[in-house]
Amino acid sequence: MSDFVFAPPEQIVVPVAGGGLFPVRRIFCVGKNYADHVKEMGGDPKDVPPVFFTKPADAVHTGGKFNFPLATDNLHHEGEMVVALKSGGTHISEATAASHIFGYAAGCDLTRRDLQAAAKEKRGPWDTAKALDDGAVIGPITPASDIGVLDKGSISLSVNGETRQQSDLSLMIWSLPEIIARLSGLFELKAGDLIYTGTPEGVGALVVGDTCRIEVEGLSPLDFQVYERHG
Ligand code: MN
Repeated sequence: MSDFVFAPPEQIVVPVAGGGLFPVRRIFCVGKNYADHVKEMGGDPKDVPPVFFTKPADAVHTGGKFNFPLATDNLHHEGEMVVALKSGGTHISEATAASHIFGYAAGCDLTRRDLQAAAKEKRGPWDTAKALDDGAVIGPITPASDIGVLDKGSISLSVNGETRQQSDLSLMIWSLPEIIARLSGLFELKAGDLIYTGTPEGVGALVVGDTCRIEVEGLSPLDFQVYERHG
């Protein structure tokens, strides 16, 4: 007999390209990591240190049919490369950071931009803007053992076949080793953690009926279709 007072939630997983399932522990995100995106949001690219925020693990959505979220009239796409960790620790050095990477995926950091704007206005927390249900869309994870360190290559996002975001991973303000090193000084990182590494310029709204594709050179593409929320 189990002591659980009700059935515990199922483990959140992301498929691994080539087979297997990656169990998700936590989701960390980097904000303001491409200069031209910082500018389009009215910020200063030289404004450091890096911005970190989180999403709940059960915000993972692995693509395909996607129901339009609750409580927003301005759902924004942020195409991003996602790093998946196989190990972690605290105070990880930049030199050893890559050894903790399991793999990489194309992702979309969905944002209720209207709620974020209201939060910024009031200097309040971003949780309702960023931690929305299904707000961490992610494609299959490609193992680093197959492709090595992913520190350059094109990243793009299209809606209904029209390119909206187009950049290169080499333009990230904070590199992967710097992100992992700094984040591990704030949180103990562990196997199963995902890190959304920030979006380039060109963010914009998604509406019901849209099909969104995120492509990162060398990785499986991520596709999802926005449906009306039912019920
Ligand atoms: Mn983002």
